[in-house]
Amino acid sequence: MKYAKVDLHLHLDGSIHLPWAYQTALKRGIIDESMSFEQYYQLMYKVDYPTREERMKRFDFPCAAMQEKEDLEESVYLLAQYLNDLGMMYAEVRFAPQQHQLAGLSQKEVILAVVSGIQRAEKDFPDLTLRLINCLMHKGKDADANMKENMETVEATKETLGKYVVALDLAGYENTGDFMKYAPLFEKAREYGIPYTIHAGEMGDGSHILDALKMGAYRIGHGIHCVDNPEWLKALVDTQIPLEICVTSNVGLERDYASHPVRKMLEAGCKITLNSDNMMFSRTNVHTEHAQCKALGISDDVLRQCTLNAIEAAFCDEETKKELMKKLNF
Ligand SMILES: [Zn+2]
Repeated sequence: MKYAKVDLHLHLDGSIHLPWAYQTALKRGIIDESMSFEQYYQLMYKVDYPTREERMKRFDFPCAAMQEKEDLEESVYLLAQYLNDLGMMYAEVRFAPQQHQLAGLSQKEVILAVVSGIQRAEKDFPDLTLRLINCLMHKGKDADANMKENMETVEATKETLGKYVVALDLAGYENTGDFMKYAPLFEKAREYGIPYTIHAGEMGDGSHILDALKMGAYRIGHGIHCVDNPEWLKALVDTQIPLEICVTSNVGLERDYASHPVRKMLEAGCKITLNSDNMMFSRTNVHTEHAQCKALGISDDVLRQCTLNAIEAAFCDEETKKELMKKLNF
């Protein structure tokens, strides 16, 4: 696919190299030798979880294999290798440092381990630029459940912000509590000059979209429930906030490709970027996402614009964006 070169929404754990994760889980004693790769694979791709919340537990498996510094470094290196093989030129990889502390690492150490994997990849794959987004997490019923860990993520991001660490996010299963309780975290981020995107209106209440705008999000992850209420959709169109759309990731029990709101959002005038979300869990990549959108009747011109939107909305510096535009050459 000609225009599939940029991915702004890509989770490290959900995009893990599965054979490597299996070998690492064995090596670290996380799984027993009696578990075959096939069984491990089946756990990842199990589809009959009773609820979407239960389904989020899938992420525990890749996260378990990324607790030691060298494993964190290797996991992002392997992801870079795959993205490079796909011909990608830019990706913002995201992960939640607080999910990788079982071996006693601080959040800052966790972040720096991933950064060192990106630096190694940069030497081996000079055509690919990777940047890192640190995720705050939804846990428990509302923001109070892990305010301390989330605030640590904000602090560790402040300390590592620079060429590679570029932004914050809020991820995980959108809990049912007051979304605005996350506001103090983003106020702190603003104070520190850290830009941020927020998963909102993905699987939770669509009104979270308005909350994310109120909290000053620079971009919104998914936002697809905007189509449930004209006011929410209008807010996205009026603000022209870049939306990180991940079509395949949203396809499942509730909707198929044909009923995904991406076309409706494009027609309404939303600023759309197309991304993979979880390459391993969703068995997708940005090429597949572009192909699916094309199959939905979205034109090449619009797909091209989605890539231009992504470069414009990227969290990297202006110099890097200029280089990406030059390399795109369209
Ligand atoms: Zn996501």
